[in-house]
Amino acid sequence: RAKAKARGSVTVFEPEMDMQIRDRRVLHQDLSNAIRNGEMSLYYQPQASSTKRVGNNDIVGFEALTRWRHPTRGFVPPSEFIPLAEESGLIVELGEWILREACRQAASWARPLQVAVNLSPAQFLNTDLVAFVHEVLLQTGLEPGRLELEITEGVLIEDFDRGLSLLRRLKALGVRVSMDDFGSGYSSLTYLQAFPFDKIKIDRAFIMNLGRNPQSAAIVRAVIGLGHGLGVTLVAEGVETQDQLDFLVDESCDAVQGYLIGKPAPIDQYRWLVGLDALEDRAPARAREAG
Ligand code: C2E
Ligand code: MG
Ligand code: MG
Ligand code: MG
Repeated sequence: RAKAKARGSVTVFEPEMDMQIRDRRVLHQDLSNAIRNGEMSLYYQPQASSTKRVGNNDIVGFEALTRWRHPTRGFVPPSEFIPLAEESGLIVELGEWILREACRQAASWARPLQVAVNLSPAQFLNTDLVAFVHEVLLQTGLEPGRLELEITEGVLIEDFDRGLSLLRRLKALGVRVSMDDFGSGYSSLTYLQAFPFDKIKIDRAFIMNLGRNPQSAAIVRAVIGLGHGLGVTLVAEGVETQDQLDFLVDESCDAVQGYLIGKPAPIDQYRWLVGLDALEDRAPARAREAG
């Protein structure tokens, strides 16, 4: 009976699945050309140190979020193209472009703000990541302490020893490493203890539910306590309301990121924060300093 049912459902969904496969094949081809066609760009979302009234001076850095503007489909979300790039191996080229571009741009900012870049599992596990990060820092002149690499917890489970060695070598370069989306996957306290993270980013799902269920509040409070006990900085993701921010400040969460503080946008929209205008005025500013 189950078999008949299963067969039946396969028949029903066959045309759709076929479409999806063809769709993916086309999308994959498009993706392989996207970088050289200039379709990829970086958006930046501000991160602020927590305070109940976040102002410009509280912005400590930005997370780079990759955007693909497809010529006919418009924006394809990273939740679609990142997995596609991973499956096909294109993630290596794409990941290199992302890191180089983020470092290059951040190096041009007049204010020495942090820049956080997401690493995908394939990049973390299958490439000579440390050598590449080192090379990009040298090429772009970005001070290593300004770069933060975000990895999701799942990555480390695959190969504990290799993960630990990679984290240590990255940190030896002077870059910071943060655990992204904490609590969303197979979080293990063992990993928090074993891996030398600088930062934990509390997953948006917990922040979203802060006002809705007491369990989320308890979890967020506990994670902050745990992180601080381990000497790690805590960042809350997806902060959208003042109530959420108030709670996080009261609980001593160190930093916040979310639509309430600022949406991901081209860096042009944050020119006044990174001081690009000041950069263009560098010569007069120097003259003033000298005089
Ligand atoms: P993430 O690293 O956890 O990034 C945060 C995501 O939450 C971003 O989605 C951001 O736009 C969204 N977000 C931020 N604040 C809020 C908020 O207040 N409310 C809501 N509802 N959403 C908020 P985005 O840009 O669609 O990226 C999704 C995921 O795709 C990222 O999650 C990251 O895992 C991945 N991703 C994005 N760019 C890259 C990249 O350059 N490389 C890699 N490997 N992955 C990337
Ligand atoms: Mg991230
Ligand atoms: Mg995240
Ligand atoms: Mg997330």
